[in-house]
Amino acid sequence: MPGSWTHKQKLLSLVGGGVALSLIAVFVLTRAVRSAAEPAPADERKWVTVERVYRGDAAEVDPDDELVYAGIRAPYKDEPLADRSRQRNAELVAGRRIRLRFDKQERDKKGRLVGYAFVEGKLVNEILVREGLAYARITPDTRRYAELLLKAQSEARRARRGIWKLRPSNEEREYWADPKYGHFHLPACAERAKAKPERIVTLASSRAALDRGLAPCGQCRP
Ligand SMILES: [Zn+2]
Repeated sequence: MPGSWTHKQKLLSLVGGGVALSLIAVFVLTRAVRSAAEPAPADERKWVTVERVYRGDAAEVDPDDELVYAGIRAPYKDEPLADRSRQRNAELVAGRRIRLRFDKQERDKKGRLVGYAFVEGKLVNEILVREGLAYARITPDTRRYAELLLKAQSEARRARRGIWKLRPSNEEREYWADPKYGHFHLPACAERAKAKPERIVTLASSRAALDRGLAPCGQCRP
């Protein structure tokens, strides 16, 4: 009869539907298994164990990797407070299992992990900045906790902790920066030759540079 299904047709249709559902289930499961084997997307969380802290913002971690903290820069080894910054970082993370979160890029050009480190729910990157043992260093690739890090830095600057006890609170002079790298420089810095002219911004004071999350260059030391 046209327009109405026989019992057999209904049965066939149900079986067909069942087969289709099973196929969808197999497809979804296969995809889930496959995605577990694919490289983690940038936002995925990862657990690592810190084996050796060698800087205020970097460490060797297990399994066999190197980690640098995103959004901050600790004093370099010949800058004041480099040791204190490294020791504090070690106190916070050495030998511990820490959780990492990532920004746009999970790794830098050298292949190191670039992440935000959490210990007992606290963001280590932020603790170091708040204690004046690292500068906020915000780039277009590390904006995830920019607000938090800049707030922590303002607090450290106001209280003149660590680095901020040694720096003048503000210097009114001309600096320049290539925001892609998150550093500000003196006019004569050699880095200028490598910077893309169309990206360069000029700043009228160190406060203006620090307020937008630029950290002083390690070479010209503005
Ligand atoms: Zn410089």
